[in-house]
Amino acid sequence: MTEILVLVDHLDGEVKKVTFELLTLARRFGDAAAVWIGPGYEGAKDKLAEYGAAKVYVAADEELTSYVVAPKAEVLAQLVSEKSPAAVLVSATAEGKEVAGRLAIKIDSGVLTDVVDVAEGFVGEHSIFGGAIIAQAKVRSGTPIIAVRPNAVAVEAAPSSPAEEQVSVALTDAAKSAKVVEKVVQEKGERPDLTEAAIVVSGGRGVGGAENFSIIEGLADSLGAAVGASRAATDAGWYPHQFQVGQTGKTVSPQLYIAVGISGAIQHRAGMQTSKTIVAINKDAEAPIFELVDYGVVGDLFQVAPQLTEEVNKR
Ligand code: FAD
Repeated sequence: MTEILVLVDHLDGEVKKVTFELLTLARRFGDAAAVWIGPGYEGAKDKLAEYGAAKVYVAADEELTSYVVAPKAEVLAQLVSEKSPAAVLVSATAEGKEVAGRLAIKIDSGVLTDVVDVAEGFVGEHSIFGGAIIAQAKVRSGTPIIAVRPNAVAVEAAPSSPAEEQVSVALTDAAKSAKVVEKVVQEKGERPDLTEAAIVVSGGRGVGGAENFSIIEGLADSLGAAVGASRAATDAGWYPHQFQVGQTGKTVSPQLYIAVGISGAIQHRAGMQTSKTIVAINKDAEAPIFELVDYGVVGDLFQVAPQLTEEVNKR
């Protein structure tokens, strides 16, 4: 059966949920062949089996993670040339997209980015022009490389017993040109990762100040959600930049996105409009965010958000 390569997205051995989404997607088209790069595979192999990996290519050499992303593209390029997969799936994260681009150059192929679904024949539905349009596109020659947004695909478990194959790659000098000298690991908070969360509650300029972000956090915590922010809020220093959602921030696609005190500028939409259900709380009934919401509350966030938090906490 045709193999679809899935680059496993993991942080020091902890597999990210997007990998299970990619495995689920790959199984629609053939055998899902996971590609593990770096140390830590032993602790993660059961998870890959749980989500239906038919095979795992393991490139465990620690050296592969000593350099910034380039080695990942080299491992994938080698596998594409040896195994002739039907497609390569990566996560549409900053790193995943960089790997995809580098791989495309190496194998002389094309990349579809920000894909939110894939149809027969590897036709990707992807988000273009800052998310304003969903386009269908297809790679016309070579092996399609498809970068899929986290949370775009509903995960389905399908227990398997994957075969394992060790892979070794002699890195080129080019791949060694950017060495990792220090790894900054963000402290893991109680809240889910923004790009992976099923629910995101974001605050904007309407929140009015850093001290009021506790209202957003309170609502997020009642729902088990991640906290996001508009650029107006992060630029003002009210919330850290790593939580910015939008064209120049993170792209999220949760089941539920709640925009609080956010007007809905095109650059903000670019990062959240593929969310499954969108709710906005805004005191201006004319705010553009109401054009794309499923549910809108016209009201003062300082009243609505705490009431909502209280109601959710009662359940
Ligand atoms: P505003 O547009 O000022 O909206 C605030 C909203 O809060 C208003 O609708 C108001 O009615 C409402 N409000 C005020 N008080 C209350 C209250 N008490 N209760 C309820 N509602 C209230 N923006 C991003 O978010 N992410 C990006 O990645 C991004 N990238 C950009 C890239 C470029 C190149 C450029 C030029 C801009 C980018 N922007 C981005 C900025 C974007 O254009 C907007 O300026 C920004 O999104 C506005 O943020 P906001 O909605 O929080 O603020």
